[in-house]
This record gives sequence, C-alpha cells and structure tokens, in this order.
Amino acid sequence: MIVQNWWITTALKHNDGLCLPLKQNIECDILIVGGGMSGISAAAAFIGKGLKVVVLEKNVLGGSSSGRSAGFLTPDSELELSQLVRRYGLKKAREIWDIPTKGITKIKQNVERFGLSCDFRVQDSLFLGIGKSGWKDVKDEMESRHAVGFTNQQLYDRKTLSKLIQSEGYSGGVVYDDCYGINPFQYLQGMKKVLIENNIQVYESTEVKQIKDNVAYTHAGSVKAQTIICAIDKMQHSFNPVADEVFHAQTFLSISEPLNDKELHDLFPSGKEYQMWDNTLVYSYWRLVDGNRLLLGGGSALTSFAKHAHYKPDVISGVHQNFKKHFPYLKKIQFIQYWPGLIDTTRDLLPTIVRDKSNPNLHFILGVVGLPWASFCGNFLAENILGTAHTDDQKYFTYLSDRRYFALATYWEKILGKSILFSLNNLWAKYYQKDEKHQFGENDQDF
Ligand SMILES: Cc1cc2nc3c(=O)[nH]c(=O)nc-3n(C[C@H](O)[C@H](O)[C@H](O)COP(=O)(O)OP(=O)(O)OC[C@H]3O[C@@H](n4cnc5c(N)ncnc54)[C@H](O)[C@@H]3O)c2cc1C
Repeated sequence: MIVQNWWITTALKHNDGLCLPLKQNIECDILIVGGGMSGISAAAAFIGKGLKVVVLEKNVLGGSSSGRSAGFLTPDSELELSQLVRRYGLKKAREIWDIPTKGITKIKQNVERFGLSCDFRVQDSLFLGIGKSGWKDVKDEMESRHAVGFTNQQLYDRKTLSKLIQSEGYSGGVVYDDCYGINPFQYLQGMKKVLIENNIQVYESTEVKQIKDNVAYTHAGSVKAQTIICAIDKMQHSFNPVADEVFHAQTFLSISEPLNDKELHDLFPSGKEYQMWDNTLVYSYWRLVDGNRLLLGGGSALTSFAKHAHYKPDVISGVHQNFKKHFPYLKKIQFIQYWPGLIDTTRDLLPTIVRDKSNPNLHFILGVVGLPWASFCGNFLAENILGTAHTDDQKYFTYLSDRRYFALATYWEKILGKSILFSLNNLWAKYYQKDEKHQFGENDQDF
C-alpha cells in the first residue's frame, strides 16, 4: 500500500491543467481565498453577476480536505439526525438537517448544469448499527426521521438487511435517499474550468500570507478587494484569532483493487449500491467508486484527535481487518493506496461564518465538516453579500454564528491542550448536549 490520494492518482488522465500563480498586484470586487468546496461554492455564486472575482488557492483547487475526502454526499456529517433532535429539539434539528441537504442540491445542480464528469452517482445512505447499542441507534435514527416529518426512510433488522448487503455482525440499518457519491477532486477541478470560462480569475500555488485592511498579500503579489471571503483550512492564530475556534479530526481513506462481478453481487445482492457507515464513535465508512473499487475509510481513537497527520499504515490496516470481519467473502481483496486527512471542525461540529471584528468586508467560513455543509456555506455567504439570499434562509444565520453554546471555552486549551479540549467538546456535542432553549441568538445577522 502506498500513501497517495486516489483522486490525485486518477486525475492525471483528465489532464485539467494548472492555473499559474499570482505574480502581480491586482484589484477586484470579490476575493475568495481557499479553493475547497466552501470557496468554490462561493465563487460559483458570483458567476454572471458582473463583478470582478478572483480565487487564490495555495495548492490546487481541491488540494486539501475537499479533494482528499471520500465524496459521500449525505446530510449526515458527523451528527446523526437523532443527535440533532436530542440537542436542539425537533424543529431546529429539521432546520439544521435541511442546511447540508441544500448543499447537496447545489452540487447536483452544478454537475447537471455544467455537465461535470466527476463520477457523480446515486448512492442512498445506509447507516448501520453494531450490536445492541447499534440497533438502538438505528431505531432512534428511524424514529427521529419520522418525528421531524421525513417519509423516505426504511428500517432493516439483522435479517432483512441481508436483502441489501451480505454482511455479518450488523444488528440493523436505516436507509434514506437523495444522497450521492462524487469524486470531489474532479468536481472542483471541473468547476475550475467553469469559473475560468465565466471570467473568474483562478490562481493556484498561491498562498495568502496575510490579509491587512482590504488587501491579501501572497509571496509574489497582492489582491486588493472590496470584499474578501476567507475559506481556508488549518488557519493559524497569527493569521487571525478566529483560528482558535478550529480543531481537527483525523480520518484515513484507502482504495481497493476492482471488485469482480461475484464480489459485487455478494456485496449488493439487490443490485443497488449504498454508501455506508456504522454507529461507532470512530466509525468506518465505505462505498463503491469508478471502476468498481471500494473506497474504505476509518480511524482510531488515538489518532482521531492527534495534532499531525499520521502516515503509517497501521491504523488503516486495522480498519481493513475490521471490515473483512463483517464481509468475510471480501477477505482476499487488496487495498492499494491509502491517505490520511485532518478535517477542520468546531467544538460542536457545526460550521461557523463570521465577519472580521475590525473589517466588515472580511468574512470567514470556519470549521466546516462535510462537503454538503461547505457547499451550502460558500453559496449562502456569497448570496448574502450579493443581497440575493432567500429571506426564508436567513434563519440559518442562527446556526452558523459563533455565538453558540459550547461545553468548554477555548481558554481551557491552556490547561487541557487542544486535542483533549476538542475531544471532550466533541463527545459532549455528539452524546450529551441538550440546549434546545438557550444556544442561539435569534436573528443573529452579524455573520
Ligand atoms: C479523509 C477525509 C475524508 C472525508 N470524507 C468526507 C465525505 O465523504 N463526505 C463529506 O461530506 N465530507 C468529508 N470530509 C470532510 C470534507 O472534506 C470537509 O469538511 C470539506 O471539504 C471542507 O471544505 P472547505 O472548503 O471548507 O475546506 P478545504 O477543502 O480544506 O479548503 C480550504 C482550501 O484553502 C486552501 N488554503 C489554506 N490556506 C491557504 C492560504 N493561506 N492561502 C490560500 N489558500 C489556502 C487549502 O489548500 C484548501 O484547498 C472528509 C475529509 C477528509 C480529510
């Protein structure tokens, strides 16, 4: 197994070409810093609006989390609906679930509108339970979906689950549709062409070192802009103090050799494929991708909250062994590549959109967990800057502001360290937090 992102390996055949770095001082109306799903979704919202828009990306578009990700497009990003219901009550849980759902719709519309070739495929979500507690989690998810008003879900117990997947050790599962799989790197590289065709300037290999007043400075140039959207990851405190609000969770991905027809049929006896993950805290997740390869991800408790990326194969090998216990007829399949990834997140696993305290024209999108959330946040912020956001959508500000209630404040970091502080907040948000009544400043427009 070699350490390499599969999406990058396969990108060579698409020959998308790179954009040259910025080497001059330029001016524009809107500057977007960061070419991940958040930044590019923002950029796309400015197409055809008659504004001069520039994108600066330190790597290539999709060069960080977005282009390393597994490409699951499901509203369930780290938080099950049942966890949102416990935390916020039925009405708010439904509203929060609707946010990534809108993000998915936007990605789908872009794929269709621009004819993007990015292995976009229908893949219903199948959330799987392990053991007794897993069966309870799956039933809770089913009941929560029903309680908030969804009708597109189906519950399977151990026996009936065998109609969907042939596996051992799962006590049940819940399936729902309107979910998709995507090659996220190819999507963003495809969007790059679309942006350029629509006169948006894209500079790759261009790291912003500092933003001062309305100017972003890079190694070899600068951009002066009326409005700046900063959608970067792994931000340092020296860049902006809001960086302290961002934590990391590490996960690992791997790709198999192609499955043969028999293995495919054994895996999905009904002929329909699913994207799947289990109910454990450090869960495993898998789906089929182009060429009938299996994309399998997961992690370990020790490395999840580690500060730096872990490049040894031991963690992902453990994920493989565990997977093969559940799918013994796949025990011979080989995984050929793996890669780690640090996901930016906040203490309560929901993203944040904030305005710089001293510069109202500088906006930050922070700690986004999940491609659908990133898609929504980028588009939402851009629409608000344009003044074209749906008035109905304004309620989402309350969920995206930085005035939420967190279990432990960031100053605890000095005593506990960043990893422990984050893991405690994460556990709290996922399994215990209940703050239906007091967490959000209603009508909070100061994003
Ligand atoms: C291994 C892995 C698997 C995942 N799987 C899934 C999944 O299946 N489904 C899902 O929904 N989510 C998944 N995620 C999470 C998802 O990828 C992220 O939540 C999402 O991509 C965040 O998008 P973003 O645009 O906010 O951040 P990023 O994609 O991190 O974009 C930020 C961009 O800013 C650039 N940048 C940083 N600093 C600078 C600077 N100073 N100047 C210029 N540019 C800069 C970076 O290079 C990067 O391209 C996964 C993440 C990982 C790591």
